[in-house]
Amino acid sequence: MYSVVQTQKGFKAVHFQENFYRLQKSNKNGTTRWICTKRQCSSSLTIKNETIQVVRGTHNHENLKRAVPIMKVVDEMRHAVCNNVSKPIAQIYNEHVSQYVNTIFFFFLSFYHLSRDE
Ligand SMILES: [Zn+2]
Repeated sequence: MYSVVQTQKGFKAVHFQENFYRLQKSNKNGTTRWICTKRQCSSSLTIKNETIQVVRGTHNHENLKRAVPIMKVVDEMRHAVCNNVSKPIAQIYNEHVSQYVNTIFFFFLSFYHLSRDE
């Protein structure tokens, strides 16, 4: 699974397995090729029909570690469940998971320069 995010500079980037990829080119056959946003890294993805078809190359850098340890979120959820007995567990789960995703997203944005062309 991957997600498409909008960068601060207004272009789209693909977030996949803790790395960002920017659009390299769109092909006539409907596939798009995305290349890792890290300088000097040649890892790329080919996407067609919103599905990743091919993952090429290996990253020449370390992936970013998760900003928020999963255990911390689980712990917060457990507290929320105890303190909100009338609230459906699914709702608590959704609230915490979306918060977690946003935290990671902003962490990434603050550390990545999403354009290799500068
Ligand atoms: Zn890379």
